[in-house]
Amino acid sequence: MIETCRYCGYKVVINGPNYECVNCKASVGVRIKNGLLADKELRLLRVKCHQLFDAQWVFGKVTRSQAYINNGNKHFGQMDKEECLSWLNENGHAVN
Ligand SMILES: [Zn+2]
Repeated sequence: MIETCRYCGYKVVINGPNYECVNCKASVGVRIKNGLLADKELRLLRVKCHQLFDAQWVFGKVTRSQAYINNGNKHFGQMDKEECLSWLNENGHAVN
């Protein structure tokens, strides 16, 4: 349960499928266990991670859940900006 925004400290409410900050609109899916609120920049980074992740694993030989285990058992929704950037680097994806 997320109650306050990690960016601005304002109240976080449930809006549809997401937790959302009433002030800056940072959000994360309610269903993600230990999800970390994301601002626009982090959400875009997570999309990039997901695209690369899917290209590597979902269309490959392992299942999605196996891929998460290979990914340190961490969901992108739990990763902050630095973690997303280093994941992209480690996976050979230049970030600009
Ligand atoms: Zn906020």
